[in-house]
Amino acid sequence: MRRLRFGFKLFIAGIATALVVISAKILPQTPPAPIEPIITQPTQPATTQPTTTQPAPDTGYLVLVNRDHAVSAEDFQDFLVRAWPTVPVSAIYDVYLHKTALQAIAEMFDSARTAGISGLFVSSGFRGYDHQRELYENPANQGFALPPGHSEHHTGLAADILIAGIGMHEMADTQEGRWLAENSHRYGLILRYPRGAEALTGIGFEPWHFRYVGREAAYYMFKNNLVLEEYIELLMR
Ligand SMILES: [Zn+2]
Repeated sequence: MRRLRFGFKLFIAGIATALVVISAKILPQTPPAPIEPIITQPTQPATTQPTTTQPAPDTGYLVLVNRDHAVSAEDFQDFLVRAWPTVPVSAIYDVYLHKTALQAIAEMFDSARTAGISGLFVSSGFRGYDHQRELYENPANQGFALPPGHSEHHTGLAADILIAGIGMHEMADTQEGRWLAENSHRYGLILRYPRGAEALTGIGFEPWHFRYVGREAAYYMFKNNLVLEEYIELLMR
């Protein structure tokens, strides 16, 4: 697995010459105040090595997995825990998640219940290569499933969250689906493949696929409407 090491470089509007580099190590515990970054066009691909060598607590949670970046499922095996009975799942013995992601999803489900949202469950968490290959080769998943080695599900940090009695493609237009999309960042989870971001993510709109990235990153991406590819590009500058 490629571990990302990074420093934040945020351009602050109105102070064009001020460049603030904040080591992720000293970021406050509370989410940072919303800052509108000046996002210029990328001049280099996101594969550029960051200059900072200081590891950040959330570094491992920001692993980028997509059509261009593969990952080794073995790297994450030690972090997996069975999701049931911490959260409702569709197949009791089959759903495993990264322990940190599971904790975040459990907290989110608790808050959802308090807000009157019910019926949420995890239908898919960690997947090995064979399972992913099966999904990828199924024509019904064309445009959604990625080839083995390229799925976030190999990390256990991604979860497909569904709503009992509601079709996965219909959930975006339900109260439950909207609640998830609006609130997941509070728990460190992002809606990984939003509507209209297909050109950036390479994946069609998936209102069910949530990815744990840590609270600070999730908050920043939500407030600035960034997908993970854009956020990592920003960190690499
Ligand atoms: Zn998924």
